[in-house]
Amino acid sequence: MTNLPERRTFAIISHPDAGKTTLTEKLLLVGGAIHLAGEVKARGANRRARSDWMKIEQQRGISVTSSVMTFERTEADGTIITFNLLDTPGHEDFSEDTYRTLTAVDSAVMVIDAARGIEAQTRKLFEVCRLRNVPIITFVNKVDREGRAPFELLDEVADALALDVCPMSWPVGMGGTFEGIYDLAYNRLYQPADDATGAFEGKVVPVAGLDDPALEGVLSPEGAALLREEAELAQAGYAAFDMAAYRAGDLTPVYFGSALKDFGVAELIDALSGFAPGPRAQPAEPRDVSPEESQVAGFIFKVQANMNPQHRDRVAFMRLCAGRFKRGMKLAQIGTGKTIAVHSPLLFLARDRELADEAWPGDIIGIPNHGTLRVGDTLTEGEVLRFTGLPNFAPEILRRIRLADPTKTKQLRNALNDMAEEGIMQVFHPSIGSQWIVGVVGQLQLDVLISRLQAEYKVDAGFEASPWDTARWVTADDPKALDEFVGQHRAAMAEDRDGAPVFMAKDAWELNYITGRFPALRFAATKDRR
Ligand code: GDP
Repeated sequence: MTNLPERRTFAIISHPDAGKTTLTEKLLLVGGAIHLAGEVKARGANRRARSDWMKIEQQRGISVTSSVMTFERTEADGTIITFNLLDTPGHEDFSEDTYRTLTAVDSAVMVIDAARGIEAQTRKLFEVCRLRNVPIITFVNKVDREGRAPFELLDEVADALALDVCPMSWPVGMGGTFEGIYDLAYNRLYQPADDATGAFEGKVVPVAGLDDPALEGVLSPEGAALLREEAELAQAGYAAFDMAAYRAGDLTPVYFGSALKDFGVAELIDALSGFAPGPRAQPAEPRDVSPEESQVAGFIFKVQANMNPQHRDRVAFMRLCAGRFKRGMKLAQIGTGKTIAVHSPLLFLARDRELADEAWPGDIIGIPNHGTLRVGDTLTEGEVLRFTGLPNFAPEILRRIRLADPTKTKQLRNALNDMAEEGIMQVFHPSIGSQWIVGVVGQLQLDVLISRLQAEYKVDAGFEASPWDTARWVTADDPKALDEFVGQHRAAMAEDRDGAPVFMAKDAWELNYITGRFPALRFAATKDRR
């Protein structure tokens, strides 16, 4: 199969408040998804039931709208590019799903606040991108406010993330002194509109280069001098844009802008359409899967449960990696022998094609089900394949679970097993003691867990603090070295669901210390789901 429709499947990685939601709204305005703009953060009744998935959302109380947002753009040569933007829940709803979503994208946009630079959550999400060499475009947001010097920001990205940086544009001042953005690739100056919105509305000043005296006509003398000095230094001091290095995840092109003022957003979309890769071959056993293949194959990267205890419905999100998916198709759930007829898939399409019945590699399909589909599952038309590289992530919150009624131990064990398999949390059995340890990466997952234990399994349970802060899967080439370590550290050892040894550390310092003392062992922050 050739000539696949163009897809850019990407996510935005950022720290809360950097401007992800604002940028998302502006991106959606570009294409057919205008009805979603301004509603990205709206909940429930505020949304209009415009399409299949919104109806499903209302009937079943499953919030799926913001999980996948799609917009389109027609390029100068007539090509239509469909952008699939996958949400990475950030604030209190940060969870393993946030990480796993990054395994379903082909590229990412990293948004950083010009005043704050790289923050904790950006760094964590970046590390997950690095696991799969996901290419990253950087957007330095909020240049309409006072921020840090561009050089300082670029150096921080380079140092903190060990990436080559390539400034593609350069701000002329920031905040009160902001006069526009210079496009270093095309030698153009973008200036804010004169009206109160300050939005960019066609004020593009083409110039021959940084030396062009025309700059004096449109910038203040200080602005023009500053731009020349800084931009020339920047061009000399940073890497030139290199497509191969970007695609390999070694170099990030950096754009400056303001999501709020819709400034620099068009250039960001240009970069996504021009540089960001479409679907690539995906790692799988026993062979990799190419998007050009004609048979459908995909994997489940997220399962969204209904918070309404009346329904046990779920929506499983499948990333389509190959083939042309059609509504009503029967797909084999590899490893279980089950076949799933996908009668009412949720297809997240741009507005004018909402009713289309097919999806292509790079697209996401929501499959309503009653709990059959699990995170990590591979679905195909029959071929026995298994996508790899969809890991469990080391929990960042560990809690002891306490049962209100001790006769319910068996129910608790089943429930924890189920939910761990679903991928919403992890459960560990300490070597010493009998209380299970539950591990999650986000606080909200703990609340979800307790309410689902009650609603679905009729188990009353609570949490107690655990002495541990984080966990690592321990492996070694030499089984004796591993046994010895486990023997020496029994009080801090546990087993995961598969019986694999896990070391639990009190804090980052202890983890560092132990990792340094046992160089023959590997302490992994991720483990492939089987
Ligand atoms: P999120 O938490 O990353 O989704 O961030 P939001 O998009 O909700 O933005 C956080 C705050 O920053 C909000 O008050 C936004 O209005 C503001 N904000 C976002 N982008 C910009 C920008 O470009 N300039 C300014 N001045 N404020 C912005």
